[in-house]
Amino acid sequence: MTARRVLVVNSGSSSLKYAVVEPDSATMVADGTIERIGEGQVPDHDAALRVVFDELADDMAGVVAVGHRVVHGGPHLHAPALIDDALIDTLEDLSPLAPLHNPPAVLGIEVARKALPDLPHVAVFDTAFFHDLPPAAATYAIDREVAERWDIRRYGFHGTSHQYVSEQAAEFLGVPLQSLSQIVLHLGNGASASAIVGGRPIDTSMGLTPMEGLVMGTRSGDIDPGVLTYLVRTAGMSVEDVEEMLNRRSGVRGLGGEIDFRVLHQRIDAGDEAARLAYDVYIHRLRKYIGAYLALLGSVDVITFTAGVGENDSAVRRDAVSGMTTLGIELDEHLNASPGRAARRISAQDSPTTVLVIPTNEELAIARACVQFVEN
Ligand code: ADP
Repeated sequence: MTARRVLVVNSGSSSLKYAVVEPDSATMVADGTIERIGEGQVPDHDAALRVVFDELADDMAGVVAVGHRVVHGGPHLHAPALIDDALIDTLEDLSPLAPLHNPPAVLGIEVARKALPDLPHVAVFDTAFFHDLPPAAATYAIDREVAERWDIRRYGFHGTSHQYVSEQAAEFLGVPLQSLSQIVLHLGNGASASAIVGGRPIDTSMGLTPMEGLVMGTRSGDIDPGVLTYLVRTAGMSVEDVEEMLNRRSGVRGLGGEIDFRVLHQRIDAGDEAARLAYDVYIHRLRKYIGAYLALLGSVDVITFTAGVGENDSAVRRDAVSGMTTLGIELDEHLNASPGRAARRISAQDSPTTVLVIPTNEELAIARACVQFVEN
């Protein structure tokens, strides 16, 4: 008998990521990304999915459910949810909250449902883990009626990753999740930090949208809201111009002209001042968040780096926590500099705070959530 499998779909505006996962054995059977949807060979999401099925072929045997990553669950959706017409309507209603992310997810859901009508399709929300943030962390200090009328709060994103990685950290250390105070640093193209006590988040850096917080590949992260009003009122930029700039022409690429940290380091080594500044701004912000979360938590048992930059870039990890020995954080330089693919400790033996690198696996987490949901 084939082990049961889940097809995981992450549909963006111009790309469609997919994976076939066996949740019980934590095996990635196949995965890939269809890029540049809308150009030439792959005119739309329907065509993209056909390419996926061509590539998967026999790997689809044993698939019992389709899990869809949905970025924004809004104020009410947080647990995994069976996708039916009513849920799609709800997701469409949420589109104004996540105009860049939810519409392409709905598109992906619709074509996948048409192609696989007999399988349950389950939505797993990137905001779910942070749904119950304490009110002091979730609330923006703005006019209360406006906030309530427009569902403005800190939602947080990358929740599947923060939850998975914090659980893996407890498993790696062999201690109960309930006993740990943690900081998780998810540093990919998007980047976010969270503070977690006993498995429950008490704060996270992303907000109403995935634009707040850390400096990212192309997003600014925290910015004085006065900049936005200034640009619209005085610089003559439209709301769309501002949004496009903050999402696509800011962050490390906006400052240093490059999104990939491997190239950024090469440019810094070659004396590129813009690349240097981009890196410095990135690290500065990261250290501010670590400091803020240390203060919120009082003491931290474990800090975990994850995602593309966090898992691979030892310089970022070193610079994020250097000089924090008096705060209880000390890396082992050799361990930090040793490349690896598996979960590993990189802190010094006597560092009161353990520092880990743990590969995230959102596809596996979504597949597990799906199977659990389908069986209950
Ligand atoms: P996404 O947020 O799109 O899922 P990832 O988590 O895969 O992104 O992170 C991608 C980023 O990780 C790349 O843009 C690059 O900056 C960084 N990265 C990947 N591999 C390395 C590496 N070996 N060294 C440094 N940075 C890396």
